[in-house]
Amino acid sequence: MIDDEILEKYQMTVGIECHVQLSTTTKLFSGADNDARDKSPNSVVSPIDYALPGMLPVLNYKAIELAIRAGKALNSEIARVSRFDRKHYFYPDLPKGYQTTQMYQPIILAGSINIPLEDGGSIDVRINHAHLEEDAGKLTHHGDHSLVDLNRAGTPLIEIVSEPDIHSAAEAKAYATELYRLMTYAGVTNGDLYHGNMRFDVNISAALIGAGKLGIRSEVKNLNSFRSVERAADFEFRRQVALLEAGEMVVQETRGWDEASQTTTSQRSKEDAQDYRYMPDADIPPIVLSDDEIGKIQNSMPALPPFYRQQWQGFGLDVTVVNALLLSQSIAQLLQRVYEKSDNNTARRVGLWLSIISGDQGDVDGNLGDTNIKVTDNQFIGLSKMVEGGELNSTAAKEVLLEMLTSDKDPHVIAVEKNLIQVSDESAIALIVDEVISDPICAKAVADFKDGNEKVIGFLVGQVMKKSQGKANPELAQKLIRERIK
Ligand code: MN
Repeated sequence: MIDDEILEKYQMTVGIECHVQLSTTTKLFSGADNDARDKSPNSVVSPIDYALPGMLPVLNYKAIELAIRAGKALNSEIARVSRFDRKHYFYPDLPKGYQTTQMYQPIILAGSINIPLEDGGSIDVRINHAHLEEDAGKLTHHGDHSLVDLNRAGTPLIEIVSEPDIHSAAEAKAYATELYRLMTYAGVTNGDLYHGNMRFDVNISAALIGAGKLGIRSEVKNLNSFRSVERAADFEFRRQVALLEAGEMVVQETRGWDEASQTTTSQRSKEDAQDYRYMPDADIPPIVLSDDEIGKIQNSMPALPPFYRQQWQGFGLDVTVVNALLLSQSIAQLLQRVYEKSDNNTARRVGLWLSIISGDQGDVDGNLGDTNIKVTDNQFIGLSKMVEGGELNSTAAKEVLLEMLTSDKDPHVIAVEKNLIQVSDESAIALIVDEVISDPICAKAVADFKDGNEKVIGFLVGQVMKKSQGKANPELAQKLIRERIK
């Protein structure tokens, strides 16, 4: 175990490559179904994906459209001309013998995204480029033999390559999470992390602060949760610093993340760079895009997370609450509609309610894009008005809210049915206050209060709340108690 004092002498540097599965209905070069979830092996595969002789790929235009959308979310320029290349290697899950990818002229050029951090600050991470490519199939190993499933072969991906602008495990997690928000909001991916819709390869190195150059890096491949990105970066940094402190060298290699032990293990050395014999793909014509075409697609995109952050500044919500709400586009859109129909105070209150309903989503990985809260903006605004108008106290409001989640009833109706409407009628509360003051149980408290003991007022208000079955307006009760005893 390396102690923090030693760690502080080193700087972590991280660059991340992220494979994003595009939400097309068919594959990148064939008409086969692109949704391989729960399908039996080799059932959604066309002769193109099998690479039978004579089959020719046809580029899926939808994938280009989604790449153009991704480019806008990454603040990147879109290449007016891009091309596909063949990356040759042999592996049983790649029947063509090469992966069709973009090596020399990727569709998405350099960009930059601002990453909000949980401590309230932010960093800018530059994007080197992002390219379109196809996924390979999947191998499963069973004792002395292995099986090939080509359902995923030909699934369209974009690979987003960041510059090494990330310098802590928390920043790495924040980058992965923001990339998820951007790609799901832009409609580029369904964002199903459990099924590998976004996979992160994290390159990590450690160097003494002031060394003037980066250390030798290792790469942890195929992480599919925000938390594993954070933990793998942290683990690798500590492992490398321990090696360097012992006077040993970090080996440039690919490592895998073991979820059970929360550690990385060596997979293969990267000392000899593989020669993939990249060459232009002769079967696919270049993608040529006009300004008009790009503009048309990008101008029709929905709002992205930075828009909501800017709009919601006046709500006074913690950055962690805002980030958790923004994990789900449908929740963001709902809160924005509430805000547009009301004001900052209402939106703040509704934002807090939404964060309670959606739970501690900051810790949840993926599958939030389809979070389905059936409560409408108007119902939320109605509930908020009841609290503001003194008709409901905050405890009662939560009870109404819970009921709203499962029924389409108006909040006022629910509050009346549950007998939760707060009594703010002075004469009605005054009657209860008089009862409490003359109750023998309260005699000592009343006497103490007369003697100037302020603390007992809480007890007396509690008695009023009890006698009113929780419906008295507590502020009004307190005011009346003061008036009557003094
Ligand atoms: Mn790739």
